[in-house]
Amino acid sequence: KLHNELQELKGNIRVYCRIRPFLPGQTGKQSIIEYIGENGELVVLNPSKQGKEGRRSFKFNKVYGPTATQAEVFVDTQPLIQSVLDGFNVCIFAYGQTGSGKTYTMTGPDGATENDWGVNYRALNDLFHISQVRKSTFTYEISVQMMEIYNEQVRDLLSSDAVPDASIQVVNSPSDVLELMDTGLKNRARSSTALNERSSRSHSIVTIHARAVDLKSGSSLHGSLHLVDLAGSERVDRSEVTGDRLKEAQHINKSLSALGDVISALAQKSAHVPYRNSKLTQVLQSSLGGHAKTLMFVQLNPDVTSCSESISTLKFAERVS
Ligand code: ADP
Ligand code: MG
Repeated sequence: KLHNELQELKGNIRVYCRIRPFLPGQTGKQSIIEYIGENGELVVLNPSKQGKEGRRSFKFNKVYGPTATQAEVFVDTQPLIQSVLDGFNVCIFAYGQTGSGKTYTMTGPDGATENDWGVNYRALNDLFHISQVRKSTFTYEISVQMMEIYNEQVRDLLSSDAVPDASIQVVNSPSDVLELMDTGLKNRARSSTALNERSSRSHSIVTIHARAVDLKSGSSLHGSLHLVDLAGSERVDRSEVTGDRLKEAQHINKSLSALGDVISALAQKSAHVPYRNSKLTQVLQSSLGGHAKTLMFVQLNPDVTSCSESISTLKFAERVS
């Protein structure tokens, strides 16, 4: 009950933390995770700091440890998906350094099968499923957009033209969606010789629109879902990069801090919400604030060598929750 009231006060912002496992072959690694509680507590150890500084605790709405499955994670996301069909705008992000599992959570691993599908596919599946169940009372039109934001420029991933407004495609089944997402990912790859490099430095956004028409009254509702795989949050050493790489880093930094500013203004119910400070927050404005529901996955790599990035990720999360 208290939890729900707090949720209300925070304007519907939820923060879930997910810690990825060590990958096959990563043996003998030391983890910074000391404790994961049932109620969203997380304690991390920083071996390079002594005493109090070396052990810090954080609190989230949920924490998923390295053994959590995609299905387990989705259970706690599912209620948000349903609300899209009830006319809400929902935004789900993954935040964290490159390699922390953002794409795994949102999309799944490379060549994912149904079992390890991420939030994107599961959400779309659910949307179609619920719309089928309700089809004697509502008809739904579901459509999809895919875009990426790179250096403060928006690029449509569903068409090969660089247009500012992303094209919208109506979809009729989960397989339509799989096909479209495939196209989007291919278009994304085509723009770059080193996909992984580029994809970690751009934000990718899948937007799903659901328009519901009540068959009896003829009235209609519109809900939307933004699924966002953010650029890697790692700090870049200014003394080590120049030119394009420095410009990229500055754009990422600017947009992630603009996002942090927006969410923390919303969490604090502040009168002014600074949406205009980045392309990312402009594109997502309709699904941040107001009656919109926001969920952020804070992703961590447990390896002690990523400790300082992990701490800065956790601090970002602390500011918005
Ligand atoms: P990011 O998108 O943040 O750069 P990825 O999602 O690509 O990170 O994850 C990095 C690697 O870790 C990938 O090989 C991915 O398949 C793997 N991985 C991430 N999260 C998990 C997880 N929860 N379980 C198993 N493997 C994971
Ligand atoms: Mg990624």
